[in-house]
Amino acid sequence: MARKQKQKPNVCPRCGTVVESPDKTWTLTSPIPDKKGRITVTVMGSFTCPRCGYKWRAVISKIKVGGDEESEEEAPEPRQGEIIEIDLDEVYQEADKA
Ligand SMILES: [Zn+2]
Repeated sequence: MARKQKQKPNVCPRCGTVVESPDKTWTLTSPIPDKKGRITVTVMGSFTCPRCGYKWRAVISKIKVGGDEESEEEAPEPRQGEIIEIDLDEVYQEADKA
């Protein structure tokens, strides 16, 4: 029985050379959450094969953010009644002294 192996993202699709690290990585964030309210963040990488020079992009990993697994992060509520007033005249006077 030949078991189909999942292609690793860092293996050259042309010659099979393992590339240790990607040239560049970036993340793609899905704008639409799934049924559980989680957002999928996909980590992409661009690779260059040192052997044959082939360049490709591959999905390195997918991270699900939000929903049940992660602790719910609520946006901090803006505090009310806390107004910081800066007296500009005072600031300028301080600047003159310095
Ligand atoms: Zn290659």
